Amino acid sequence: MFGAGSAGAVVANRLSKKYRVLLLEAGGEPNPLQYIPGFGVFFVNYPETDWMHKTVPQKYASLNSVNQQSSWSAGRGLGGTGTLNLMIYLRGHKKDFDNWGRITGDPSWSWEGVLPYFKSYEDYEEDGDPRYHGFGGDLRVEQPDYIGMGPEFVRAGQELGYSHCDLNAPFTEGFDIIKFPIKDGIRQGTYKAFLEPIRRLRAKLVIRKYAHVNRVLFKHGNIAFGLEYDRHGVTRQAFASKEVIISAGTVNSAKLLMLSGIGPRAHLQEQGIPVYADLPVGQNLQDHIGAYMGPFFIDKPRAVALERDLTPSAFVQWFLGGKGILSTTGLHATGIISSSLAKARGEGDWPDIQYFLYGFSVFKTFGAAFARGFGLTADEQNKFYEHAIDKESFLVAVSGARPFSRGFVKLGGKSPYDKPVIDPRYFTDPGDQDLYSMVEGIKTLLYLTQNTTALGHELGTRYTTQPLPGCEHLRFQSDEYWECYARRYTVTLHHPVGTASMGSVVDTQLRVYGTQGLRVIDSSVAPVLVVTNTQASAIMIGEKGSDMVLKYWEEQKKKQSQYGAPQPQQYGPLEPSQSNGVPTVPDSTQQYGVPDSSSYSASSWLQPATTYSIASLNSTKSGYSVPGYYSYNTVK
Ligand SMILES: Cc1cc2nc3c(=O)[nH]c(=O)nc-3n(C[C@H](O)[C@H](O)[C@H](O)COP(=O)(O)OP(=O)(O)OC[C@H]3O[C@@H](n4cnc5c(N)ncnc54)[C@H](O)[C@@H]3O)c2cc1C
Repeated sequence: MFGAGSAGAVVANRLSKKYRVLLLEAGGEPNPLQYIPGFGVFFVNYPETDWMHKTVPQKYASLNSVNQQSSWSAGRGLGGTGTLNLMIYLRGHKKDFDNWGRITGDPSWSWEGVLPYFKSYEDYEEDGDPRYHGFGGDLRVEQPDYIGMGPEFVRAGQELGYSHCDLNAPFTEGFDIIKFPIKDGIRQGTYKAFLEPIRRLRAKLVIRKYAHVNRVLFKHGNIAFGLEYDRHGVTRQAFASKEVIISAGTVNSAKLLMLSGIGPRAHLQEQGIPVYADLPVGQNLQDHIGAYMGPFFIDKPRAVALERDLTPSAFVQWFLGGKGILSTTGLHATGIISSSLAKARGEGDWPDIQYFLYGFSVFKTFGAAFARGFGLTADEQNKFYEHAIDKESFLVAVSGARPFSRGFVKLGGKSPYDKPVIDPRYFTDPGDQDLYSMVEGIKTLLYLTQNTTALGHELGTRYTTQPLPGCEHLRFQSDEYWECYARRYTVTLHHPVGTASMGSVVDTQLRVYGTQGLRVIDSSVAPVLVVTNTQASAIMIGEKGSDMVLKYWEEQKKKQSQYGAPQPQQYGPLEPSQSNGVPTVPDSTQQYGVPDSSSYSASSWLQPATTYSIASLNSTKSGYSVPGYYSYNTVK
């Protein structure tokens, strides 16, 4: 398998309890500073830790970004995007998963079906409701020590009639303090929680860092039997006797499928790639965009001011007990509400706007830092934020939480190192519902911040009078101004999903249609974006996907013993003396002869599981069986 990210790390952990797993990851170890929640985001846009994707120039959104291109970060290294993300822990709305169940026709993906998988990996903070939360699992989730002006934000929401509730349990609309995957103030990405504790103890798991996978290897048209990857300047192959699993994230999983010949026929032919399965890979791309609102000035020192608060004692506080301002990523509270558009569609109980409170004031280099992190034009950012430097203030991001716009990922070339073409097509939905719900979200936020007792009266919150560069010609705060604002100052919230959707590219067991032995297990399989942030759902997909793999092979084993079919290979532990613990075979082409054609079916993933044959992956006409769970050799 490849991709040690939010989903992949979980898969590697679960499968290696029982089977041998080779986990290939393009990046390296997390930087120790990434474990400090307050520092994680500083690793965005560095090639060692970030794939640094860029979208094509957007016509209707992100207009203040350099070249109108949205800057899409994606973590590179053990733990994947979970090592550089903003750590908000939210699963999604109950209705999101019920919708998945409906779309896929498989109730196991509805809320009731996925809930046990969320619970099974969680070690939720003590006051979590046991009906909805897991305790004692691998991933600690809790409220950080420092929550800044989060309580005021939640109270303001309550004043407008929204409940203060657990947004990880079933809810309609509500506000809450943000929970993080942290333990004692230390970031718990999926590397820290699922790989670090086992990587040196579990013989069945072999991790290869700096292994850039180029393509899936197929034999006889559609049987996935291995991966080709580059490591330290050498191209190698790894072979699987059971399955190949792709967990490279929404952009790279789609890219790798297409490079391997799984994708839209016309596009692959255009690139000169032989087509193994004609599937809509890369289509159905969805992402959240957010408009960053602020600065909101306040009269009391309730927000973090870096120049004032990031003192040596803040570091001491974190190092000694994981406490203080460094125990958070700066995001303190969230609110999830329904717009009048959602209500008019009869979906008032399925919210479409999310707020994120950034409880810190504008510091001297804020404009430049924001510009760098989000690919915005530095001059415009500096100009816009200059008036707020050193004044007590905060920001709020408004997310269009249920976008209707759909985009795509395509190949930018045939080489694995060619950059993918990413077009999220923000604000292109017919009827402009995405734009209008965001404008409404902005206007509701202005009311919430300035007209409530908690924020407006007690903190004296007032929105800036500085117009946004590019919208100065419009009447300040008119609807036209906010439309302009939403189009210009929209940045990705980094939640892409959907490029290998269940129901169109993979089945509900996450097996790639029209192939054998190939699954995708990561956020790309989500058919529709959840309302909230996406890491928790990616982890759940990893947990549920692993369970499917384990159950599948357990079932195969039972069938074989029942019907007297050949037993799957029983592999003993790896012999450490063999090539660093990895058994090698001299030449892949000699090892894989032509399998007995009766032993596999070209569309076996589409057929009932009984037609799937282990023998087709393990044995050849000459009776050769792969001598280990996987093996690798060097391509000359
Ligand atoms: C800046 C930022 C902030 C975010 N903030 C939040 C947040 O606060 N809360 C939240 O819930 N979500 C957040 N997200 C989103 C969330 O982190 C992702 O949705 C989630 O981590 C995706 O998980 P995944 O397993 O699909 O992919 P990833 O975690 O991206 O894992 C993919 C892995 O595959 C590896 N890989 C890719 N290609 C190859 C290849 N060719 N060969 C070998 N390995 C490869 C990558 O290096 C990576 O390790 C944020 C994302 C970003 C970028």
